[in-house]
Amino acid sequence: MSSQYTVAKFGGTSVADFDAMHRCAHIIHDDSNVRIVAVSASAGVTNHLVTLTQQKSNEDERLALVDNIITIQNAILAKLTLDADLAQSFELTLNELKSLAALPALSAQQCDEMLSFGERLSSFLFTQVLRNLGVKADRFDVRKVLKTDNRFGKATPDIAATALAAQKHLLPLLDETVIVTQGFIGSDPYNQTTTLGRGGSDYSAALLAEAINAKSVHIWTDVVGIFSTDPRLCAKASPIAKLSFDEAAEMATFGAKVLHPATILPASRSNISVFVGSSRDPQAGGTWIEKDTSSQTGIRAVTQRKNQILLTLKSPEMLLASGFLARIFTILSAYNISVDLVTTSEISVAITLDNAFNASRPELDQQCLEELSEFCHVTVENNLTLVALIGSQIQLRQHEVNLMEVLSDFNIRLICHGASKHNLCFLVEQADSDKVVQSIHAKLLEVA
Ligand code: ADP
Ligand code: ASP
Ligand code: MG
Repeated sequence: MSSQYTVAKFGGTSVADFDAMHRCAHIIHDDSNVRIVAVSASAGVTNHLVTLTQQKSNEDERLALVDNIITIQNAILAKLTLDADLAQSFELTLNELKSLAALPALSAQQCDEMLSFGERLSSFLFTQVLRNLGVKADRFDVRKVLKTDNRFGKATPDIAATALAAQKHLLPLLDETVIVTQGFIGSDPYNQTTTLGRGGSDYSAALLAEAINAKSVHIWTDVVGIFSTDPRLCAKASPIAKLSFDEAAEMATFGAKVLHPATILPASRSNISVFVGSSRDPQAGGTWIEKDTSSQTGIRAVTQRKNQILLTLKSPEMLLASGFLARIFTILSAYNISVDLVTTSEISVAITLDNAFNASRPELDQQCLEELSEFCHVTVENNLTLVALIGSQIQLRQHEVNLMEVLSDFNIRLICHGASKHNLCFLVEQADSDKVVQSIHAKLLEVA
């Protein structure tokens, strides 16, 4: 049975400095249902930590990166005095960061350890800001409850273990105090630190909400909700008041950065409402994402995801043969490469991959291509962007004239529609993609 509890998440810009944290603390102060707060690292900190994991830097550069992080946190500390319980652990955490940064090379596990410091540090500071406002608040190390596998850098949560640990360690605290914890990080079965992938704090908030049977998750960010497209790209983008779980999940999956792609999974699985709003302007409202709330049909948003790869696999043997696709997918899956879009013709198949090949595993990726080349001709195209129209009951017929008119100016590499009524996707050259999104938005989503 669901409780009245709300889990609130504050993103990087919302906890970037003292004033931003103070605004967020007011939001918690004014809503007694919020019992868990998941914070991101202060803006900029995770990027510095990522550079520290890349090991291209020498010792001086590493020290400078640690200094940058300390400067960001010290600017907040300058306006706060940490209570003894927080001050001591804050110092210990900083020392841990310095020791790890002194090492010239890090293992995959140590990289995740390094990435965890942003959230670990900001959560001390935010707890104090809340306390100063008269809210009874305690910091909690989320690694005690958010259990994952050990795929460092992009760990998969263990839902059952997380629920069990949260019911045992977290739930009993919530009547007494507001818990301030970390987004983005977790721990594997050996209690080693893991991370959920960039932008993962949204996902953490939804997972924690599911684990304690919360009623809602509030994602506080720097925009007043989910817009018809990225408001940074289109000045006329408009906020969407209500979205269904399916629509929001498609938007997040296809590139709307405002939500981590997996955020909606726990929410829709456990029927938890998700609100997205601006911590700068909490009165301005935002987007509510709920089960089947959308009565509106047609296209509601356009998103883009850059750095896509298109693989075209061609073989005359595919004609009337069975097992060709199975063979391709078996190989891709053995190399842990996930496929997004697929189109087929009589003797070829085209598939898109999201950043599948990466610099850290070139031999592996080459080997995969070689295995595919044993039975078909493989072409790899890079620098493509996947553009997606998102909505409900999208029917090409209603929009095809306008859409084709817009797209006629651009080179379209592939179109996919039909598997889901919530999206219509196509691939364009990366250099054109901003323009494509702006043109589609102007033609199909801006009311005259
Ligand atoms: P946070 O640090 O709070 O997690 P993010 O930077 O991850 O914030 O996400 C918020 C940003 O997402 C916005 O500033 C906006 O530029 C971008 N964004 C992309 N697509 C959308 C969209 N459809 N609606 C709203 N924001 C979007
Ligand atoms: N701090 C992490 C990042 O910058 C996670 C998050 O902010 O959601 O990716
Ligand atoms: Mg984010």
